[in-house]
Amino acid sequence: MTEYIQSKTILSRLNDAPDPYFGITWNMNLYRGCQHQCIYCDSRSVVYRMGDLAHIRIKENAIDLLDRELRGKRKKGTIGTGSMNDPYMPVEKAEKLTRRALEKIAAYRFPVHVLTKSDLVNRDTDLLKEIGKVYSAVSFTITTCSDELARKIEPGAPVSSKRFAALEKIANSGIYTGIILSPVLLFLTDKEENIAEMVRKASDAGASYLLGWMGMTQREGQREYFYLQLDQHFPGIKEQYDKQFGLNYQCSSPRALRLYQVLREKCDQYGIALKMRIYAENPPDQLSLF
Ligand code: SF4
Repeated sequence: MTEYIQSKTILSRLNDAPDPYFGITWNMNLYRGCQHQCIYCDSRSVVYRMGDLAHIRIKENAIDLLDRELRGKRKKGTIGTGSMNDPYMPVEKAEKLTRRALEKIAAYRFPVHVLTKSDLVNRDTDLLKEIGKVYSAVSFTITTCSDELARKIEPGAPVSSKRFAALEKIANSGIYTGIILSPVLLFLTDKEENIAEMVRKASDAGASYLLGWMGMTQREGQREYFYLQLDQHFPGIKEQYDKQFGLNYQCSSPRALRLYQVLREKCDQYGIALKMRIYAENPPDQLSLF
């Protein structure tokens, strides 16, 4: 189900801006809800009051708001998109809100960091290249190398092989790009072979960085949906989660230390950075390594 809504604002400033991992100063959500329907999605947490994640709300006035808000900003900072929904979910193909937002961002010469699971981002290579004269980064979230597993845990998103292929196109066009390997799901993807294979495929595709976190978070609303899906697709695993984590928010893999070691060794071997370059306004238009 889709619905058009009016929004009051479009850019929300992060408390710790710019955040040290993704370099984001403002979050931009052009939609509410997400068609990718990942079974572990944090946006289902009741704290966000999202309602049904599959109910897609399109912010009809988003581009006018963005224009007004960018015009009023004296300091530049990276605009991030892709935290509460995917900016390239299927509805974007016709709506083009993300594309029109990128046109504004390019016109105002602001930096951008796009986080996505979709190959639809390839459509906007021209704009991302233009924004890249200031700063642009495209991060693909890929959690498993198995397309079969991706279909179960991220049922509405393009499978992992399509994301690697999309990343390769982005990299070949000269845009700064890499992988976010998160969440890592206990008993499903917290395997050394998965991490090692991920880095190898990242290297083949031309990724510059790989940001990994060997765990997931769980909150009320998110947890219940996740457990229902585990019961449906992976019988017996929910009980293991329950025993291991109870009502914990942070759910790190017990094998996290070993997995980080594999990640570091493989990234070192293939020359992939474990941190990404982020935009810094001073000195103007230069990038800093943190
Ligand atoms: S793509 Fe992101 S926002 Fe969308 S369902 Fe998956 S985890 Fe949630």
